[in-house]
Amino acid sequence: MAREYTLHQSTSSTPRIDYRAELNEQQYAAVTAPPGQTLVIAGAGSGKTRTLTYRVAWLLDNGVLPEQILLLTFTNKAAREMLDRVTALVPVDIQRLWSGTFHSIGNKLLRWNSERLGYRKGFSIMDREDQKDLLETVVNNSGIDTSGFRFPKAEVLGDIYSMANNTCLSLPEIIASRYPYFDKVLDHIITLRKLYQTKKVETNCMDFDDLLTQSVALLKENPDLLERYRQQFEFVLVDEYQDTNSLQSEFVELLTGADGNLMVVGDDAQSIYSWRGADVTNILNFAEHWPRARSHKIEVNYRSVPEVLALANASIANNRAQIRKNLLPAREGKGTLPALVPLDSGSAQAGFVSQRILELMDEGVDFNEMAVIYRAHFHSMEIQMELTNRGIPFKITSGLRFFEQAHVKDVACFMKFAVNRRDEVSFMRMVKLIPGIGSTSATKLWNAWMKTDAANAEVMTGKFSDLLLPMSVPKKAKASWDQFAYTLDELIVDGKISTPPEMIRSIFDGVYQEYMQAKFKNAEQREQDLEQLSNYSSRFTDPLEFLSQLSLLSGVDTDNKPDQEEERDAVTLTTAHQAKGLEWHTVFAVWMADGMFPHARAVEESDLGLEEERRLFYVTVTRAKDELYLTYPVLNHQARDGDILMKPSRFITELDPELLEKWNVRSGW
Ligand code: ATP
Ligand code: MG
Repeated sequence: MAREYTLHQSTSSTPRIDYRAELNEQQYAAVTAPPGQTLVIAGAGSGKTRTLTYRVAWLLDNGVLPEQILLLTFTNKAAREMLDRVTALVPVDIQRLWSGTFHSIGNKLLRWNSERLGYRKGFSIMDREDQKDLLETVVNNSGIDTSGFRFPKAEVLGDIYSMANNTCLSLPEIIASRYPYFDKVLDHIITLRKLYQTKKVETNCMDFDDLLTQSVALLKENPDLLERYRQQFEFVLVDEYQDTNSLQSEFVELLTGADGNLMVVGDDAQSIYSWRGADVTNILNFAEHWPRARSHKIEVNYRSVPEVLALANASIANNRAQIRKNLLPAREGKGTLPALVPLDSGSAQAGFVSQRILELMDEGVDFNEMAVIYRAHFHSMEIQMELTNRGIPFKITSGLRFFEQAHVKDVACFMKFAVNRRDEVSFMRMVKLIPGIGSTSATKLWNAWMKTDAANAEVMTGKFSDLLLPMSVPKKAKASWDQFAYTLDELIVDGKISTPPEMIRSIFDGVYQEYMQAKFKNAEQREQDLEQLSNYSSRFTDPLEFLSQLSLLSGVDTDNKPDQEEERDAVTLTTAHQAKGLEWHTVFAVWMADGMFPHARAVEESDLGLEEERRLFYVTVTRAKDELYLTYPVLNHQARDGDILMKPSRFITELDPELLEKWNVRSGW
């Protein structure tokens, strides 16, 4: 007996991804573009981010190794989401791919190479508040008399330096164009910047801008490194290119090299960060800058129903400075127009939004699929209250961020100091928590500390308590000081730095719980936050990595919550700026009143200011997939002036009324 048996060919060689089916013609062309420089410029919701994601998949599918790809995105979360998508498409070890915001990539480069810049490996990253503290110290020690004339406060100095860094302009240029009233003290401002720079190296600290400026400096000053990274990053990809600043475009250029492979995607109509130094000419002049670059357009919008898209297109057409785009809807119409909803008051507006959210939920829309978008953070206050009253869960992506809260930063400063024992700002913050120790004692203690060997040694071998206990502290602080010293001992045991959760536990049990209970009314809530912080930290074994992550999360980048928080089913509350790149089934754009959106100051400024506000409006409305509500209160109650009559935003009144459906809401409010 013989059995007939057929052996079939393995099917694994067939491509996993059907690129043609999942992309339109224009997207497909960009995704499969030959190496070289490529620009994709297209309107909102046309699949630019999707194109970039598929491009990464395509490269990997064609044998490019993950570590040869550098993917720069607007938030770290966006990068993670894109890579999750890629992993689902191509089975590769995605961890080896470099991706994230410019700041997080800069951080990574610097961690490997900071010695070349005179920094140590364990440098701290300062947030805005730390930076302000350090600048204050620098000003106070500089001997400059700031009392007699108008002089920028530390915070403003920080802004001025930051603007200079991000625009690559000189201080005289920045002062002349943006801060003419500080003209008389320009020399002092210049001197202080040098002192600040020296101080940062001395204390082994970098501010956010350093993550970029120092990375660029590193690459420029070290041709061997530049060559190495250029060779490594065979393919560089950038999302949201319209909002890069000069420094970022220089960074991209350095890493790509004149003949390298670069793909950038963006939309000039969504350039909304010029106030922070972003320069839309980076994308507008891309073709001139890279003469061999190929340009791609995408002219179909996949995100929004035609009714929403019609409104967005009509609005942006009012801007003079733009590349005209013809964006057509891929989706079918629903027949319902975006709603224009005037309400009696701010609280009626909050009531309306909350009620509609509950109704939509009944119709089957998840909370996750709804967002409330506003121009300024304070516009969300009444809505937050009303959502809370009605038990509607929400997450908020602006305002005081989780990692910027005092108690989180207090705990972090112990860890930062343990890792970087020259970190003056963290030391000062830490010792000032001790009752009885104020600025004067703290400064003395810092000076005493800097004389110890441990402050200068790369590795801490002895015990903190041996060095700290003998120092002189005010009498009433003595017991707490000792306790504090023993707590630090637990952070580095026999020269080995403890893990992040161990550190948090020691700090909390040793000193912080007691401090917190005495100091804060809502100690319990804060304790829970620290619990959450500890949970989050448990995924890191290296405290340095954890601290970098913490700083990056609280920084200029917009991700600000641990991931678990992000995944919760909750309505999103966000500023328009931070909504960039995202999409929801339903969007409530609130406070759509003139003076609120556009912001009154922008209107006074110039046409350019108004055009940027209109782009921001365009970003706002193009976040909506299915439903869009534009609401505003007719009366705005103010404590001092009483009720003020509000007019609808000029971005609404300038539109053809046919594009909107007006809702007349009768309220019991
Ligand atoms: P933005 O300008 O807001 O950043 P974008 O151009 O990056 O938008 P994406 O976010 O990539 O657009 O895409 C918008 C939506 O359209 C997403 O939900 C995406 O999955 C979907 N989409 C894009 N292209 C296609 C396509 N060819 N087929 C089906 N869906 C698509
Ligand atoms: Mg996008």
